[in-house]
Amino acid sequence: MKAILIIVMALWAGIAAQPQTAAWTCRPEKLVARGSIVFDASPPQDRDGGIVRWEWDFGDHSRAWTTAPVWSHVYHEPGRYPVTLTVTDRTGSTSTATSIVAVKAREFMITFDDGPASESTPYILEQLRRIKEADGAPVKAGFFVVGQDKSRTVYHDIWQPKYGIDHRPGVLSHPELVRQIAKEGHIVAIHTQHHPDLDQLPPAEVEREILDCYQAILGAGVTPPKVLRSPRLHDPKTLPPALAGWRIVRGELTKDYLPLITEDEVIDNCRKILRTAPDSPVVLTFHDFRGLPGHRLDFVKIVNTLTEKDHFVLIDFDADGAVAASRYRAPNEQTSEDLQDLLQVWRQRLSPSRSR
Ligand SMILES: [Zn+2]
Repeated sequence: MKAILIIVMALWAGIAAQPQTAAWTCRPEKLVARGSIVFDASPPQDRDGGIVRWEWDFGDHSRAWTTAPVWSHVYHEPGRYPVTLTVTDRTGSTSTATSIVAVKAREFMITFDDGPASESTPYILEQLRRIKEADGAPVKAGFFVVGQDKSRTVYHDIWQPKYGIDHRPGVLSHPELVRQIAKEGHIVAIHTQHHPDLDQLPPAEVEREILDCYQAILGAGVTPPKVLRSPRLHDPKTLPPALAGWRIVRGELTKDYLPLITEDEVIDNCRKILRTAPDSPVVLTFHDFRGLPGHRLDFVKIVNTLTEKDHFVLIDFDADGAVAASRYRAPNEQTSEDLQDLLQVWRQRLSPSRSR
């Protein structure tokens, strides 16, 4: 018993005698405004237990006093902030250290799926000419196009009986629009030939859906990057061997595809996405062909509100950056989102006050 007490006292003395120094790391790697940043001052294993109080000054007029070494903080504006940590050990002695953290603005790219179509693509291109980046240059967007053929259309089965729409979106019907998209500086990429759920297809059909679309774009005279976006973000379980080296671009759904959705609702959705996304840039997913007669969204208003009012930073779409930024969506997350969307559509249709 006496021996144990001596050992405990010796350990105590060892810890207390060792000077504690203030030091911390923060994560994630890229620090962005309006995102949660974790400041971690956990001491190295061999020194654990000496510090009893952590005092943070985050350099933006906010402070925190804690009895645990980990603390989360959100900066509302981008900038360079001097962060000061003062630690107090059990003997009452303190140590202070200051470092600068650089917090960047939250960036986003914009993409348009399901075109090209004569009803929508010229309108989207005209809108994009009016959407500028911070330096005044027109933005470059990503267009994830479908190949299609003359006999089917993306929404034909759904919308044709109800609205009598017989539009034929797709590269094969509109090669001139594919060339126009590329000529205006945007990136054309693959969204499959017929817009199936790729997670439901055998590998050979996944391969055909993607390579047929790729060939259709090449046939229109444009060389797309070897990236694809799965319809409804239902990614294939594995990419077939013939697609080795191909990469998947995902994206965050703005719900612009919901019938009767308004610009303000889309802006709200985008805001939520941009404020809570774990990383930056964020790839926002809009739709070129939305399969709805006479219902166009003002994308200039949507994007300009996000940049001018909310101070998110619009950047050019680039395939590498978009692949790196892509957040993996688990199949069950996707399914539950599909169901929510379906419910929202029905609510909109059943609500007598909604007319537009
Ligand atoms: Zn799609």
